[in-house]
Amino acid sequence: MPSEFTGKHVTVAGLGVSGVPAAKVLHGLGAHVTVVNDGDDERARAQAAELEALGVTVRLGDGDTLPEGTELIVTAPGWKPTKPLFTAAGQAGVPVWGDVELAWRLRGLDGRKPAPWLAVTGTNGKTTTVQMLASILKAAGLRTAAVGNIGVSLLDAVTGEEEYDVLAVELSSYQLHWAPSLRAHSAAVLNLAPDHLDWHGSMEAYAADKGRIYEGNQVACVYNVDATDKPSTEDLVRAADVEEGCRAIGFTLGTPGPSQLGVVEGLLVDRAFVEDRQKNAQELAEVSDVDPPAPHNIANALAAAGLARAFGVSAAAVRDGLRAFTPDAHRIAHVADVDGVAYVDDSKATNTHATEASLAAYESIVWIAGGLAKGATFDELVTGAAKRLRGAVLIGADRALIREALARHAPEVPVVDLDRTDTGAMLQAVQEARRLARPGDTVLLAPACASMDMFTNYNQRGDAFAQAVRELGA
Ligand code: ADP
Repeated sequence: MPSEFTGKHVTVAGLGVSGVPAAKVLHGLGAHVTVVNDGDDERARAQAAELEALGVTVRLGDGDTLPEGTELIVTAPGWKPTKPLFTAAGQAGVPVWGDVELAWRLRGLDGRKPAPWLAVTGTNGKTTTVQMLASILKAAGLRTAAVGNIGVSLLDAVTGEEEYDVLAVELSSYQLHWAPSLRAHSAAVLNLAPDHLDWHGSMEAYAADKGRIYEGNQVACVYNVDATDKPSTEDLVRAADVEEGCRAIGFTLGTPGPSQLGVVEGLLVDRAFVEDRQKNAQELAEVSDVDPPAPHNIANALAAAGLARAFGVSAAAVRDGLRAFTPDAHRIAHVADVDGVAYVDDSKATNTHATEASLAAYESIVWIAGGLAKGATFDELVTGAAKRLRGAVLIGADRALIREALARHAPEVPVVDLDRTDTGAMLQAVQEARRLARPGDTVLLAPACASMDMFTNYNQRGDAFAQAVRELGA
């Protein structure tokens, strides 16, 4: 079937997770596809060979030159906007789309009615919230999937055989940057803290890209009432150009005002999607239905509930969906209790904002932290958590930064500084943490850093922690 892509010269920028499927889909639609890629390693050559066998042109080792005759670029989301390829595209008037924009444009191309998108972004909590949302939508009997950086790929979701009533879509700031025409049914920005600023250029640019998720929303823009960062997520709603009648819906850990969801006496309540919201509120679920019931995760649940309610889902389905949800590994996972001390793995807390939320969830903590700091500073984090720290055990390349922040803001907290990066380091860290802990305490792995100095990824770091805890108990 001819489409706007038939005969078009499309350059796909970057092989890899999104590039290979994008090239295949575009080729299948009759486009003349050229893939350009910076790297020229073994993996890239294997991927190139696969695409070339289909008739796609691939240029390895040069991701900066715009191929002659390019009418459209479809880029991997991580490619920086300052790359020469995009400067050349700008000069030539060639549009640049990311993987999300491509998926958005391909919706309905096969004649099927496109499923609306309920979209989620934020510095932290995206995956969790999207999974909660998908669980709620499923409990409501809807055909749905959690898509984006997780589960099913967006491209598969819009071009595959499976039919959906609605999609729960996780979007990163990079993806939003490259998705100019995306129009979600409803969307939420969970929170906004400085992250990826080297890519976006400034906090303003980062916030503006996140805020793009609200553009053209039809039913609800869901924002975080409690967030104190500037610009706030509510500021982003205000700046967005939405469909007539679209509402701003807040979520808060406090008592909700009209048009908000919040918490009252241990219950998640909705004062937005109810008759006469000035006077009425609808009970959705109990706080204890949320796993884990840490404050930041209640906020995630409220955001998910807000999007589901915007789509017309019943209160009972919100409760059932939250009850059915279990978090992914390494996100505040309770590993074991040993001698009255709880051991919790939040290896996914790879930045200070996530760790702040994690530390706020426990009263008395022995904190295991450190790794690659990615330019972060730790003063604010340590100041906020100081009174809840029983002790700290520091690991990894940039641990001195955390040690210095502790010395400045929490000098009374005992600190163990582990100067080793071998595979036994985590076992020693857990043993040291056990020595510092008292019954009733929580030993919390929430590193506030990336893991790649010592581990392959955060999964392996969390697994090493869990293994070490098991050895304690043995
Ligand atoms: P993302 O997909 O945005 O990386 P995840 O749901 O995978 O988010 O959670 C990543 C980490 O962020 C978790 O381990 C947890 O420590 C933290 N986190 C989750 N939700 C929030 C939130 N709403 N606010 C702050 N931190 C959070």
